[in-house]
Amino acid sequence: MIKFEGVDKIYQQKNTQIHALNQINLQIKQGEIYGVIGLSGAGKSTLLRMVNYLERPTNGEVIIDGKRLSECTAPELRLIKKDIGMIFQHFNLLESKTIAHNVALPLILAKKNKQEIKARVEELLAFVGLSDKAKSYPSELSGGQKQRVGIARALALSPKILLCDEATSALDPQTTQSILGLLKKVNAEYGITIMLITHEMSVIQKVCNKVAVIEQGQLIEQGSVLDVFGHP
Ligand code: ADP
Ligand code: ADP
Repeated sequence: MIKFEGVDKIYQQKNTQIHALNQINLQIKQGEIYGVIGLSGAGKSTLLRMVNYLERPTNGEVIIDGKRLSECTAPELRLIKKDIGMIFQHFNLLESKTIAHNVALPLILAKKNKQEIKARVEELLAFVGLSDKAKSYPSELSGGQKQRVGIARALALSPKILLCDEATSALDPQTTQSILGLLKKVNAEYGITIMLITHEMSVIQKVCNKVAVIEQGQLIEQGSVLDVFGHP
């Protein structure tokens, strides 16, 4: 469902070129939890952001559900993006809005009616275990709770794909465990394909079925977590 074919990304900075990605080929099947691991600067965010077209390849093609993104019209891209949710290292919540409002945002932007929004927000908050926080503000929540809000918001429009950008890197080990558990539940209950990037091996070993190792813009290894890293 997600395919990269010969993808390069070259950032142009004044007189220098940064070759951030070099001939990336990968394939992620529906329902997989696919992790990309590498050091800072290896090209992980560039790779992840290409899936929802926040970055465009310099060469090569990203294909989602058989659709070549470079050939899609703007309305086609909007439809594809609606099927892709994303969560972030620093949660990216609106501090001045309630938890319910933060979760409701994608539904408000999609112009759903009020009753539908209210019911969906209640369902999402229950799913992430935060029903009692609807009227709280982000500043009143712990990091783990904020990430739960991020997950609820990302799921609002029932995406097929969830992109996770270092989603547990700002959390302590115990909270990381619980968020990874929630991601497993998202995958198991809704069949959502998860693509995550991380610099932590333990994250890959806890949740991923497949892994790719990225080094200086190149995928140097890919396969099942057991094949690539052996038994934990
Ligand atoms: P990672 O997520 O693994 O830390 P990134 O994808 O953020 O890696 O970055 C890969 C390389 O591309 C780095 O050398 C980084 O400095 C460079 N880079 C990322 N974004 C930009 C940008 N917008 N302009 C120029 N260089 C960039
Ligand atoms: P406003 O900022 O206009 O006062 P709210 O922050 O109360 O609005 O709500 C924003 C959206 O979140 C609304 O669409 C509303 O339906 C939904 N919402 C607000 N509170 C709850 C709640 N307790 N349970 C479920 N949905 C809620």
